Amino acid sequence: MKRLLSIIGCFFTICVMAQVKSPSEFLGYQVGTKVTPYWKVLDYYAYIAKEFPNQVKIESYGSSIEGRPLQVFYVSSAKHISKLEEIRNNNLKLAKALEGEGSSNIPAIIWMSNNVHGNETSSIEASMLTLFELLNPKNQETKRWLENTLVIIDPCLNPDGTERYNNWHNGVVGAQYNPELYAREHREPWPGGRLNHYYFDMNRDWAWQTQQESRLRAVIYNKWLPHIHVDFHEQGINAPYYFPPAAEPLHEVITPWQREFQTTIGRHNAKYFDSKGWLYFTKERFDLFYPSYGDTYPIYSGAIGMTFEKAGNGSAGLGVYTDNKDTLTLVDRAIQHHASGINIVEVVSQHADKVVAEFKKFGEDAIAGKLSSYHSYVIKYDAAREGSLRALLKLLDKNQIKYYAGTGSVKGMDYFSKKEANYTLSEKDVVIPGSQAKAALIRVLFEPDAKLTDSVTYDITAWAMPYVYGLPAIASMAKPAKLQPYSLENLENPAAAGFGYAIKWDGFSAAQLTAALLKRKISLKSSDYAFKLGKEDFPRGSLLIMKNGNKQADAERIIKEEADKLQVRLYPIQSGIVEGGRDLGSSDVKTVKTPKVLMMAGEGIRATNVGEIWHYFDEMLKYPITLINPSDFSRVKWSDIDVFIMPNGNYSFLKDTNQSKEFASWLRAGGKVVALESVVGQLASQEWSKLKAVKTDTSAKNKPNPLKKYADRERGALENYTAGAIYKVTFDDSHPLMYGIKDYFTLKTDANLYQYFQNSEGWNVGYITEGSKVSGFVGHNLNKKLKNGLVFGTQQIGQGTVVYLTDNVLFRNFWESGKLLMANAVFLVGE
Ligand SMILES: [Zn+2]
Repeated sequence: MKRLLSIIGCFFTICVMAQVKSPSEFLGYQVGTKVTPYWKVLDYYAYIAKEFPNQVKIESYGSSIEGRPLQVFYVSSAKHISKLEEIRNNNLKLAKALEGEGSSNIPAIIWMSNNVHGNETSSIEASMLTLFELLNPKNQETKRWLENTLVIIDPCLNPDGTERYNNWHNGVVGAQYNPELYAREHREPWPGGRLNHYYFDMNRDWAWQTQQESRLRAVIYNKWLPHIHVDFHEQGINAPYYFPPAAEPLHEVITPWQREFQTTIGRHNAKYFDSKGWLYFTKERFDLFYPSYGDTYPIYSGAIGMTFEKAGNGSAGLGVYTDNKDTLTLVDRAIQHHASGINIVEVVSQHADKVVAEFKKFGEDAIAGKLSSYHSYVIKYDAAREGSLRALLKLLDKNQIKYYAGTGSVKGMDYFSKKEANYTLSEKDVVIPGSQAKAALIRVLFEPDAKLTDSVTYDITAWAMPYVYGLPAIASMAKPAKLQPYSLENLENPAAAGFGYAIKWDGFSAAQLTAALLKRKISLKSSDYAFKLGKEDFPRGSLLIMKNGNKQADAERIIKEEADKLQVRLYPIQSGIVEGGRDLGSSDVKTVKTPKVLMMAGEGIRATNVGEIWHYFDEMLKYPITLINPSDFSRVKWSDIDVFIMPNGNYSFLKDTNQSKEFASWLRAGGKVVALESVVGQLASQEWSKLKAVKTDTSAKNKPNPLKKYADRERGALENYTAGAIYKVTFDDSHPLMYGIKDYFTLKTDANLYQYFQNSEGWNVGYITEGSKVSGFVGHNLNKKLKNGLVFGTQQIGQGTVVYLTDNVLFRNFWESGKLLMANAVFLVGE
């Protein structure tokens, strides 16, 4: 460590003599005095890899959505680099992810992740310094550390966001940076570089992997399962440095060793920071609970997962005045992250044998069932929910979670009734044993209600998969008799159609098929009544594709092709007469329109919520959506627009007399609005809306205690708060908004709840009643309020419809059951 900072500072002196160029020599400026473009960073990495072919290996793992390369760099001694594959295989055996006895004679594996948030610039800059220092021929210490460590560096997890920030910043900064916080170089424009192409926060996406970058990274990450994972970040410009140990709540599955070694690393780093007089804090703010962070996901996969945070982010630029009249510079930010990186390698090297031994123990405990609270999780097969089940199996595959078919009976907690249940397994039920390599992750993803040691958390507190997917399940204490490989057969549809085809409306894949066929000009009808064809029951919303309505020559081929691709079953129709329902010529069978969908995306609208809808249409539904700037309201040809989706945000046109009038007349003429979260409240205040918020109970017994203690202020604020808890929604299954949905659980992240519509003001489609909460933390006072109110409703305005969705049904795009609900809102409601 002693030499570390002298190397950084020696750019203009002795280093020019050295053979291998430091980052500053290579770039031609001191690291941190400019924001380095991503391609230049990769150039430096490639240069170092070329200079040290025996000690550095590059692996590409794909590209970002916008096509930028994703790469990791393996750095170690020549001995280890020559045996990478052997080390990897051995390690997976230690983790029990591969069969066989693994040898513990491997280096400790440290994975460093940088720039998952693209505008947190210092970590990618610092990573070049760390790379150089690990290999610097003059540094005997790092050379020694690499004898028992393997360092894997991902220079940039989010190149699209990084380049969005970099291009903008470098375009507005002058020859000298301006440290005034109000200067434009500190005022990043919408949507900011933190997020990826689809405005996703990829530090919330590790487990769900909805984004291409996360998906590709999970593949290579799970191929390695490192022992240590460091995720470098930046926080507000006035904050001291943060490093582990993390704050409560820590999920109880986190092992004593994982807690202890976080502290060991923290103490080691603290010693160095003390010697430099750098301020820092630990054990506050950054908790370890929600499973999709860059610290928790690695922890639940056996690593010591950690977040390191330096002051900075999109408002910091190259240098900025802080509240205490200091100047925070990128140079200093990079130096401190670099120091942490080097300190981590040092301390891990000092404990390398123990780190490997404890990782091995994690694997052994995992397969022995010691990390599980239930023996297994059983997902009950229901033909009407097969699409959701297939989606869940995909998630399990992505996370290397093994599942089986079983026989015999199980006993445990039923997720939907929350009661003890005995259950006899059938052939297509899915059994996920709690005793396997990914035991900890399985427990966190599936346990019905995770125990919170402390309720001040950074994120949602509930995500149990059966609720997210709307799949009936049992958390079982008993062991199923026999486990066998599980698979759902691949569907191959018949070629000839007869009268046409019927398609059950029972999952998001039916909606995807609708989108695909509408785009290919196939005419579809949807039935408002359930019907029967032969032995098959078709629920409300089911689709009919009639031969005489689709004259194009290749219609049958198109339909079969798309249905096979999406694994949706086509049922040939033999006759127009239907048993147990209306005939196919009935007026309750309506043509599905090809709606033109619009959304505002820009200043004032929450970027992550815009991203969820954009990504949903682009990548999931694969149906066109037009995005406009909010300032372009008057440029839109509203008469062309069928559906206007309003994600969370502030809509200034609603406050403009002329524009809100134009909007209302579009609505009356047959427009459809889908309003989400806080927008519901904004629409409720429009003169045409009949929606009213639930009143807070102000009776004496519900008044807050005025004699509260100052020291309890943080905890006191929690009484009216939820970061995100799950509620069972009671709903009207005859309303098109809920077609195809059998059980719905909503993620409540705020206090918004509305009164029921009276008389014929609107439809109370989904609501929560007393005792609807099934999982997660809700503050004491808020808990009393969240009952007997509307969460989903529709209102007819002239010929038009407003769909009110008070909760985010597409939360981070992993809330599976909301995907069909959104498709219903777009295609079926109000038609
Ligand atoms: Zn961050």
